Amino acid sequence: MEKKAIRNFSIIAHIDHGKSTLADRILELTNTVEKREMQNQILDSMAIERERGITIKLNSVRLKYHAKNGEDFIFHLIDTPGHVDFSYEVSRSLAACEGAILVVDATQGVEAQTLANVYLALENDLEIIPVINKVDLPSADVERTKQEIEQVIGLDCQDAPLISAKTGLNVEDVLEAIINKIPSPQNADNNAPLRALIFDNYYDPYLGVVMSVRVREGRLKVGDKIKLMATEAVYEVTEVGIKTPKVVKTGFLEAGEVGWVAASIKTIKDIHVGDTITLAENPASKPLEGYKKIKPMVYSGFYPLDTTKYPDFKEALEKIELSDSALVYEPETSQALGFGFRVGFLGLLHMEVIQERLEREYNLDLIATAPSVIYRLTLTNGEVIEIDNPAKMPNSQTIAKIEEPFVLVKIMTPEEHVGDLMQLCQNKLGVYRDLEVVDDQRRILIYEMPLAEIIFDFFNKLKSISKGYASFEYDLIGYRVSNLVKLDILLNSDLVDAFSMIVNKKFAYQRGQVLTKKLKTLLPRQNFEVPIQAAIGNKVIARETIKAYRKDVIWKLHAADISRKKKLFEKQKAGKKRMKEIGNVEVPQEAFIAVLKLD
Ligand code: GDP
Ligand code: MG
Repeated sequence: MEKKAIRNFSIIAHIDHGKSTLADRILELTNTVEKREMQNQILDSMAIERERGITIKLNSVRLKYHAKNGEDFIFHLIDTPGHVDFSYEVSRSLAACEGAILVVDATQGVEAQTLANVYLALENDLEIIPVINKVDLPSADVERTKQEIEQVIGLDCQDAPLISAKTGLNVEDVLEAIINKIPSPQNADNNAPLRALIFDNYYDPYLGVVMSVRVREGRLKVGDKIKLMATEAVYEVTEVGIKTPKVVKTGFLEAGEVGWVAASIKTIKDIHVGDTITLAENPASKPLEGYKKIKPMVYSGFYPLDTTKYPDFKEALEKIELSDSALVYEPETSQALGFGFRVGFLGLLHMEVIQERLEREYNLDLIATAPSVIYRLTLTNGEVIEIDNPAKMPNSQTIAKIEEPFVLVKIMTPEEHVGDLMQLCQNKLGVYRDLEVVDDQRRILIYEMPLAEIIFDFFNKLKSISKGYASFEYDLIGYRVSNLVKLDILLNSDLVDAFSMIVNKKFAYQRGQVLTKKLKTLLPRQNFEVPIQAAIGNKVIARETIKAYRKDVIWKLHAADISRKKKLFEKQKAGKKRMKEIGNVEVPQEAFIAVLKLD
């Protein structure tokens, strides 16, 4: 294939600005997908992506475009997620491209993730094409959006396509801009030693591990012996191909192309996203620049409800890890919940998505404990330890100081919400840093804040206060000393380790009260009285009591009413599914979730 006919690009945008819809239109316009096969957001192939309407996993597809000048082009389009938790995925897909289409919603303008994604694209030296979307909407303000892009980002918008991804208006301009502005692959020499970047992986039951790759130099074909440069593992290639978005076998890939490679790889540990594939026989001297390994910021304990499912759970984690290199986990045991894993995530959305995927794709019922950040403790004997699980906090007498991660939060918002958002940040123990003026309506509010306060419901509050208009991003700035205590919950006088949390002393009393009250509404009555207590060390700071129940509902039914009785039994059984026996008290899954949603 002629290199100058290839264009590799991603679409980047703030969430909901229309990336996936634009991808759909591009697939249609290039006749990549037959009209009758067309579904909305076709690249979002995971069920959970469809339901939530968000893109989580990047996905790539090859398109053919017959340009206005009569020439034919090959596009590799890589879709990316837009949520702040998934910026890692964005940076991976960008490393496989020469250009990026920056979609900006003309009714919203530039938002926090628009900027964050532009920075990622610039880091990867990509050509960025601004595209103004949703011009069909009456509230679209094209001039203003152009101005914002020029002022805030510094991209020239004179020729920016003005499109409606929904109706298809002017989408062809985007395709023409791709061929005219985005460079074809550079230094793509088929005869050089092979260097292919692995930017994604997934597990296929027939093919084994399938790697998504961008071939930079050289040629790769079925039967080749490949070497993974980081692990030095050697495999024989069994299948090579592209996605259209259907999986198509081509037998080979050449410099400049994007596709997939399978090599009967069963040892998942051999594959690292960001690693370089070369040939065992004529290896490249140096790997391509990989990705920074990023450190998860939020940890939670995951436990299978059915303890016999532990081996299945382990295997499921290994498979998900393949396509999600940001995921980390290690075995952990809880007195209350038994054997499980402590799993690290980029943020709360990431955590929810992983839990849902584990449950749906692998048929597991899981209990997730309250998420925690990593705390740094200096003990009285001078030793420094890190804990990612509140239950592991040592006795307060042995602790000299506790530090927690702080982040710099940048909130982009219309001017009228600044006051309420400042209040929110203060309630979240934020320290004011700056208020930047973007233009006559927009402001960037900058705060330093404990990361833990952001993972507890910050996003939802921000959205509701600003009626959806504010957006935020954050970067870790380091550890700081905080006045933190461990808050424990006791059910029937037994400490439930899975409920323990580390909180700022300022909130401890209030959280203890709210949590005991909430648990009282969530725990079913038992045939004995159950006290629920919140305690700091030995000191009980809040208490509620669940009264014993008197009669079993079932005996109220008339003996002849068999079918109703059966239904009731089934209902109780279904309800039971999500119950965990702790000591002698049954605790429903909702109780564990309740811990996350306090205030
Ligand atoms: P993404 O999060 O960037 O992938 O955004 P989506 O493509 O999922 O679009 C978010 C929402 O905006 C969906 O409800 C789309 O139907 C809608 N949308 C996308 N493009 C347009 C457009 O040009 N006009 C209108 N009216 N709605 C659009
Ligand atoms: Mg999307």
